Amino acid sequence: MGAKLVADKARCIGAAACLGSSILDLDDNGKIEVLNDGVVPEEERSDIEDAVAFCPVTALRLEEQ
Ligand code: SF4
Repeated sequence: MGAKLVADKARCIGAAACLGSSILDLDDNGKIEVLNDGVVPEEERSDIEDAVAFCPVTALRLEEQ
């Protein structure tokens, strides 16, 4: 079973604490952008779970597929 990462761009304050995985980047406005439809690569699952936990405004969540 895989997971999908969903971001609430309106909540994002651009703190960048979540960056470091292949599916998260900041857009031109400094807000979070989820790449590849949020499909979480299994090998990055742990890092992405950390990103969800570290976001100071809880703008990220994982949905199990
Ligand atoms: S950690 Fe949260 S607030 Fe910071 S860029 Fe990522 S989603 Fe946005």
